Amino acid sequence: MKSNFDLTLMLARIEDAIRPFPKAAMFELAERGYTSLFEQLISCIISIRTFDETTIPVSLRLFEIARTPQEILKLSPERLSELLFGSSYPEQKAYTMLGIARTAIEQYNGELPADFDKLTEMKGVGPKCANLALGVAAGQAAISVDIHVHRVVNRWGFIQASQPEKTLKALEAKVPVEQWIDINRLLMPFGKHICTGNLPKCSTCPVLEFCEQVGVTKHR
Ligand code: SF4
Repeated sequence: MKSNFDLTLMLARIEDAIRPFPKAAMFELAERGYTSLFEQLISCIISIRTFDETTIPVSLRLFEIARTPQEILKLSPERLSELLFGSSYPEQKAYTMLGIARTAIEQYNGELPADFDKLTEMKGVGPKCANLALGVAAGQAAISVDIHVHRVVNRWGFIQASQPEKTLKALEAKVPVEQWIDINRLLMPFGKHICTGNLPKCSTCPVLEFCEQVGVTKHR
């Protein structure tokens, strides 16, 4: 990590730099009023291996028909997969959603618990979606590490971790709790549009002076 590394200043510069780009899907959906834990968890499931450009319209299409556990459970697996068309693995995701909706009703009176362990006990709910949904919907401090966040913080030289799960643990240890939600909100679009997988835009990057560019061999 560079000696001048200053996460607060970097996040402020990144906030400015990503303004022209679309927000990460779940933050965009929250702004449009889909703020319940259930809706956020469902849209995160939709987002798995799916571009934000698809996640947002697919989520909106589904929520027009069903946005609560009760409404989802009224749909057959076939109808639900149809509504998820465009997202990857729609059949598998339909079963995951029906399972989440059933658990919400049978075990928690129709309201998902704002509890990481209870959410990740449900089939198909991983730490990334549980943390992101808890962060956005329940205001619970939680870091969610997707492939973009993982790549960016490792390139900075801030974290040295081979997998997103290890990056999550390392970030939790190093980043002040007040900044946890910003890590997701800012670094997902930053990784998608500026610190891209191939040819990151280092020459115009607002945090170049703080970044070790670990593993970057070619850039724009
Ligand atoms: S300088 Fe390059 S590698 Fe570092 S954060 Fe910016 S775009 Fe990513």
